[in-house]
Amino acid sequence: MKALVLEEKLRLSIREISLPLSMGPRDVRIRIGRVGICGSDVHYYTHGRIGPFVVNAPMVLGHEAAGIVVEVGSEVNDLKVGDRVCMEPGIPDMTSRASREGHYNLDPAVRFWATPPIHGCLTGEVVHPAAFTFKLPDHVSLAEGAMVEPFAVGMHAATKAQIKPGATAVVIGAGPIGIMVALSALAAGAGRVIVSDLAAEKLAIAGLYPGILPFDIRSGSLAAKVAELTAGWGADVVFEASGSPKAFEGIFDLLAPAGTVVLVGMPPAAISFDVVAAQAKEARIETIFRYANVYSKAVALLASGKVDLKPLISANFSFDESVAAFERAAQARPADIKLQIVVEESAQ
Ligand code: ZN
Repeated sequence: MKALVLEEKLRLSIREISLPLSMGPRDVRIRIGRVGICGSDVHYYTHGRIGPFVVNAPMVLGHEAAGIVVEVGSEVNDLKVGDRVCMEPGIPDMTSRASREGHYNLDPAVRFWATPPIHGCLTGEVVHPAAFTFKLPDHVSLAEGAMVEPFAVGMHAATKAQIKPGATAVVIGAGPIGIMVALSALAAGAGRVIVSDLAAEKLAIAGLYPGILPFDIRSGSLAAKVAELTAGWGADVVFEASGSPKAFEGIFDLLAPAGTVVLVGMPPAAISFDVVAAQAKEARIETIFRYANVYSKAVALLASGKVDLKPLISANFSFDESVAAFERAAQARPADIKLQIVVEESAQ
C-alpha cells in the first residue's frame, strides 16, 4: 500500500509500506478520500517527537480522515459498502478501566493514528472498528468529514465548559482549533465569542462567522476589551487555545466571577499561573485531552447547516503533492487554517 511515510525527522517519502489490513467481524475497510494536515503531524515532521512520543521508526502520518466504506465485517449492521464516513482516530481498549469508567479517550493503551508507533491514515485504505466510524449524510462532503476530527476537539471543549444560552466566551488563539472551539461554543448557545490572536489574517477568517468578534492583541488589552463588552463583569468562559505560556498571564482578569477556564492548547513546557486570582473568582478550571463521545454530535451539526467548516479549508493538495503540502504546512502561513490532501480523487 502506498503511503506518506515520515522516515525520520524532516524526511518524508511517498512509498510502498506494508500495513495491517486484516478485517475483524466488527471492522470496516475504508478507502481514504481526504486527510487534513494537523499541527501534530507537522510537529512530528519538524521535530520527530511530541513530548514522550518519539518517532523511532518510519511512521505513516495523518489522522483527520474521511472516506468510503469498501468492505464490512460480518457483525457490522449500521454501515454498508458505499457509505461515506469519517473516522475517530483513537481506538481504545474497550475493556480497559478508563473505557469502562466512561473515559475512553484517557485509556493509556489507546491506539491513535500517527502517534508513534501507530501508523496514520495517509494511505489508500485503512481497516477501522465500525464503532469508531461515522456515516456522513449525502450533503456533507468528505472534505467536511475530514474536518470532524479537529472540530471534535472544539466540541469536547465546549461540552466541558457547560456553556449556558447567551453566555459570553473568549477564545485565546485563532488557529484551526481556536476557531473550532469558538464555533462549538456558539453552537452550544454562546451569545458571542471574542477570539484573540496576533495574526490579522487568521482573525479575518474567524471574523467571517456571525457571533465571533475578532480581537487583535497588538491593538490593545484583551482584558479591557472584555470588560468593555461585559460592563466590567468578565466572560463566562475563557478557552485557552493558543498553547502560549504568555496566555496565562492575567488570564483570570478576563473571567467573570464563578466563570470557567478550559485549557485546550498544550504549552511546550510546564507553566505557572496565579492561583489566588483564580480563587478570588472561584474559577472552575477544566482540561481536555482529545475528545470522547462527540463525533455523532459533530456530524449532526454539520448536517444541520448550523456549522460550516468549509471556509476553514485553505488549500487542497493531491496525494502525489503530499510532501509539498507538509512543507507548506511547516511554513505556518498566517492565512492557512487547514490544508487537506485529496488521497483518492474518485472517492469524494
Ligand atoms: Zn488533528
